[in-house]
Amino acid sequence: MTIDLRSDTVTRPTAAMREVMLRAEVGDDVFGDDPTVKALQTRLADALGFEAALFMPTGTQSNLCALLAHCQRGDEYIVGQLAHTYRYEGGGAAVLGSIQPQPLAQAADGTMALADIAAAIKPDDPHFARTRLLCLENTWNGHPMPQAWLQAATDLARQHGLAAHLDGARVFNAAAHLAGSGGDVWAAAREIVRPFDSVSVCLSKGLGAPVGSVLCGSAALIKQAHRVRKMVGGGMRQVGVLAAAGLHALDHHVNRLADDHALAQRLASGLQGVPGISVRSAQTNIVFVDVADGRGADLLAHLAGQGILATGLIGLRFVTHLDVDAAGIDRTVAAVREFFAAPASAALTASAVSRAPY
Ligand SMILES: *Cc1c(COP(=O)(O)O)cnc(C)c1O
Repeated sequence: MTIDLRSDTVTRPTAAMREVMLRAEVGDDVFGDDPTVKALQTRLADALGFEAALFMPTGTQSNLCALLAHCQRGDEYIVGQLAHTYRYEGGGAAVLGSIQPQPLAQAADGTMALADIAAAIKPDDPHFARTRLLCLENTWNGHPMPQAWLQAATDLARQHGLAAHLDGARVFNAAAHLAGSGGDVWAAAREIVRPFDSVSVCLSKGLGAPVGSVLCGSAALIKQAHRVRKMVGGGMRQVGVLAAAGLHALDHHVNRLADDHALAQRLASGLQGVPGISVRSAQTNIVFVDVADGRGADLLAHLAGQGILATGLIGLRFVTHLDVDAAGIDRTVAAVREFFAAPASAALTASAVSRAPY
C-alpha cells in the first residue's frame, strides 16, 4: 500500500462521504436551485460569522474571486512574497483583474513587519495604484499564524481603509491546533477569521472532500464574487453532489484533524536525532525535514522505492491526512532511518523516483 504524504489533497472520499454524495438533493446551481449547495454555503457562513458564502471549485478560484471582488482594475493588494495568492496562483489577480500585487518580505513564521505594511500603503495620489486590500494566509508552512499579529495587521489595514482577506485553505488545521485537545475547533476558527472581511476555506485538503472551497464574506462582497465566478467559468450546475461531500466533511472531518496533527508529531519525533536531517517542528499536519549534503532527491527515491511518497528537494515535506495511519508513519520513520544508516550510494539517483511502483 502506498503511503502518500505528498499532500492532504490526495485523500479519497470515504465510503460514508460517497454515500451522502449519492443521495444528495441537487438542482441547477446557476439558477440558484441546488439545495445542498445552499445548505453548505449557509452552514459555513453562519458557523464562521459571515453574512454569506459561495461554493467554489478550487481554492485558487475562491481567492481569485475574492481579490476581484475586493479590488478594481488599477487597485493594489498587499501580500506576502511567498503567499499562495501571489506566488502559486498563476498571477491571476494581475492577469485577470488588473490588480497590482505589492508583495512584502515575510519572516519565517509568515508574518510581515507592520512597518513594512504601513510603508507599502500608497497615499491617494495619481502616481500610485490604489491600495485596497491586505491578503494574509493561515496556516503558514504548517504553522498557525500568530493571532495577535493577525489582529494587529488587520487593524492597521482597517485604519488605512483597506479590506482584509484570509486565504484560509487550512484554517481548520490552525483552529484545531489553537483549540487544543478537547477544545472547540469551530469556536477557534471563528476567532481566527473574525478580523477579516472575507475568508477562503478549502474542503479538498485535510477535510477530505474530493473538490471544493468556500468563500465567506458580506452579502455585498459575495454578490460581487458570484459575478466574477461566472466570468471565470465557475458557475456549476447539479453541484450538490460535491457540496454534499463538503457538508459531510464539516460534520465528520473537522474534529478529527487533531488525529492528523498527532500523526505529524509522531513522524517528527520519530525522525528526531537522525544524523543528516533536521526536523522542523510540526504544529499541524505538515512536517518539513531539511536534508544535508544534497541527499534529498536520493532520500525521496529511496522512499518511493518502498511506496512512500513525499515532496521537496532540500526541505522535504510530509503531509498527514485521512488516508494515512500510525503504521504508515512508522514505516516512513523506519525507511528514513534505514536510508541514513546506509552509506551514501551513487547508484541510487533521483531518476528512481519515476520508476517507483505507484
Ligand atoms: C491549496 C491552497 C490554495 C489553492 O487551492 P486549490 O484548490 O489547489 O486551487 C490556496 N492557498 C493555499 C494556502 C493553499 O494551500
